[in-house]
Amino acid sequence: MRANLHRHLTDTPADVRNLGILAHVDAGKTTITERILYVTGTTYKRGEVHDGTTVTDFDSQERDRGITIFAAAVSCAWDGHRINLIDTPGHVDFSDEVERSLRVLDGAVAIFDGVAGVEPQSESVWRQADRYGAPRIAFVNKLDRAGADLDTAVESIRARLHVTPLVVQLPIGRENGFVGVVDLLRMRALVWADGRGTCEEGPVPDSLREESRRRRRLLEEAVAELHPIALEEFCAESAISERTLAAALRDLTRTGEGVVVLCGSAYRNRGIEPLLDAVVSYLPSPLDMPAVRGSQDGTEQERAADPAAPFAALAFKVSSTATGRLTYLRVYSGTVEKGETVLDAGARRTERIGRILRVQADRHTEVDRAVAGDIVAVIGLKTARAGATLCAPAAPLVLEPPSTAVPVVSVA
Ligand code: GDP
Repeated sequence: MRANLHRHLTDTPADVRNLGILAHVDAGKTTITERILYVTGTTYKRGEVHDGTTVTDFDSQERDRGITIFAAAVSCAWDGHRINLIDTPGHVDFSDEVERSLRVLDGAVAIFDGVAGVEPQSESVWRQADRYGAPRIAFVNKLDRAGADLDTAVESIRARLHVTPLVVQLPIGRENGFVGVVDLLRMRALVWADGRGTCEEGPVPDSLREESRRRRRLLEEAVAELHPIALEEFCAESAISERTLAAALRDLTRTGEGVVVLCGSAYRNRGIEPLLDAVVSYLPSPLDMPAVRGSQDGTEQERAADPAAPFAALAFKVSSTATGRLTYLRVYSGTVEKGETVLDAGARRTERIGRILRVQADRHTEVDRAVAGDIVAVIGLKTARAGATLCAPAAPLVLEPPSTAVPVVSVA
């Protein structure tokens, strides 16, 4: 199933999301990662009744756990997109390794505890992501816990992170009775009530209709205040359409003027599918990111995420595994094929790319090539160290140290 889903994906940078999950220890990063890998291996589709293929398979979850702990990046497929989950630290640490993991992601999900809200540690992680201009969405986790409250957590996001929260869901039920959310864009209810973690879509329950309308209005007002096109529509029609709202939320995410807030309970597998939908809708693809800069012999160069440009990649992690010496690459421009010779530009040494692997939830898949925007692991590099730039020998380039540039805004 997973391999099939991956095979259907094309090598289009626009369909890639390089995602980090940022959280302080205990907020639920491991649980959410596991749930994402599990959910993306299923046949979830909006509004469809399931055919029984999504029953929790604890064996595969255990496998996921093993790989997740050791991999620097894991790929999964969602709604025609490839999501590369990059392992990021759970603690504040300015080591080179941490800096490199933040550098290679294009966007992040920040996890908050539904009881504690923003804690000092989550604030530090947030600020660290600020330095890289990484667009974020927020996920308020553990809504099933006693004392959990989305509104309180949202207020702590506003007060402590100094960013406007754009709440796109209304929880259905509280604490132990938390069963789902109202999607305030589509005004539909998503409920995980069958005990298997599968998501079913339906109309907003009568008891929540008025509150959902009120919350939708609040969302529209908040968006109109920040986004000129949304404001225009709001003034002309005294409402904002779902389409304009979605486009505005995407823009505001990318500029960091607002943060889309979703909620759920990773432990109970509630809220993961809409979170993945939000990742695909709001977080940028490699094409939305500014071109990377580098230099060779004093000459400045720029490289855009174009598969046809000369190859340039950053080796961001090297690890020894049973499969061999794995070098994780973020490809910034061009295409690299297995068997190709590349230049380690800093060391001025050529090396051969042996095999190219995509690390998935429960396996490695060998691929023939990797293109701009993608993250893969390669086997065969003998000396390239983490932090090295690998590039086409005919177009040498050393990538600049991490930049703090904010991404390009695309106004729909
Ligand atoms: P990490 O340190 O951020 O990776 O956090 P973990 O995923 O290991 O979670 C920390 C603890 O919180 C574990 O005991 C989890 O079982 C628990 N946990 C994670 N998500 C939830 C949730 O949604 N609800 C509840 N009640 N507990 C959760």
